[in-house]
Amino acid sequence: MNVYDSWRIAAMLDARGYKSTNDVADADIIILNTCSVREKATNKVFSALGRIRDAKKPSALFGIVGCVAREAGADAFRRMPELNFVLGPQSYHKLPDILENPDARLLNIDLGGLEKFDEMPQPATSPTVCYVPIQEGCNHCCTYCIVPYTRGREISRSFDDVIRDTKYAAKNGAIEICFLGQNVNGYKYTDKNGNEFRLSDLIRQTAKIPEIKRIRFTSSYPTEMTDDLIEMFATEPKLLPFLNMPVQSGSPDVLKRMNRPYSLDGYLEIINKLRVARPDIQISSDFIVGFPGESDSDFEQTLDIARRVRYINSYSFKYSPRPHTAAAIMPNQIPENVKKERLAILDSLLNEIQHEFNNSCVGKTMQCLYEGSDKTGKHLIYRTPYMQQCVVRGTPPDGEKISTIKITAASKASLRGEFAND
Ligand code: SF4
Repeated sequence: MNVYDSWRIAAMLDARGYKSTNDVADADIIILNTCSVREKATNKVFSALGRIRDAKKPSALFGIVGCVAREAGADAFRRMPELNFVLGPQSYHKLPDILENPDARLLNIDLGGLEKFDEMPQPATSPTVCYVPIQEGCNHCCTYCIVPYTRGREISRSFDDVIRDTKYAAKNGAIEICFLGQNVNGYKYTDKNGNEFRLSDLIRQTAKIPEIKRIRFTSSYPTEMTDDLIEMFATEPKLLPFLNMPVQSGSPDVLKRMNRPYSLDGYLEIINKLRVARPDIQISSDFIVGFPGESDSDFEQTLDIARRVRYINSYSFKYSPRPHTAAAIMPNQIPENVKKERLAILDSLLNEIQHEFNNSCVGKTMQCLYEGSDKTGKHLIYRTPYMQQCVVRGTPPDGEKISTIKITAASKASLRGEFAND
């Protein structure tokens, strides 16, 4: 979501004649787009701001946008009096106000809804992989998560607006659409005639756009994986056979304390249905280890679900207490050294499973999306349908963004391949 937001902010400044620079000392405006999901990222923000303040030219405007801005609010000005603006994740379309009135301070951390999507100019070009937000905020209220506070309650964009954006992206260079939302499969929009649209409708409609060859979505909540959406994996070949569906923990007790009210049997049943619908589908997950009260046996159950599902790539984190969340004040917080130890054990298992899957790809051919060259310029980088990076030698067929690649070798982190017709 932050990649998307940064892209739109850059496009807005571009439309006003600004050009990007890698040199802080050269910049007229510096914007730090921030994430507050974990404490570590939040802590980094103010030290980064200090470095920017010391390096920038005196006349340059600088500020923060995004979730740390929303969380810090006016306090950000107290901690860093030189800041010119502090804008929450739903207010960054207000940025032009500071450009017009640079001597004032601008603070806006409202959860205003969806205005930003309408008020921002569309970028002149689209990246090959174009993120399209379809909803913002989340109603799930997991006890560890700051998102309902920073991004607010769930709001879905109108079906027509999303399709307009996907068509625009396709016309301007996008090959892959990734629908985005904190609770993306909770997308629900009812038009003025009472017609209800779900994520499956967006996928079906987007698949009709000839330029769009690949569709995916992130991040999914298990109980929102409704049958109509599962059916899409069976019927829509442009929908990639890869799904991030976070389980977070394999322990029913921990899930209860996390306020994630699904049973593990129910979760596994959804995966079963997905595998029936699309036998080649692969799943990834997010995990939190060391949630308050997590016992050794709870943690063993997390390892167990990872072994059973065989997630091909995952994001695992130590639990990080966040302000405004119920879990931050729960008893039985887990000591840092235990969290660290458990994370290392889980990571090692997840890496082993990922390596095993990567090895199983050797000898197969896959339709892969061209991403660019590596730093040496000697290799081409492709992305498989399972989001693995694949390094290829050779020259891609003229102007082709999607090529058939034969996988020739695998490591834990990436694949090597060659053009199938070489
Ligand atoms: S479903 Fe995701 S975004 Fe929503 S509260 Fe839970 S962790 Fe946060």
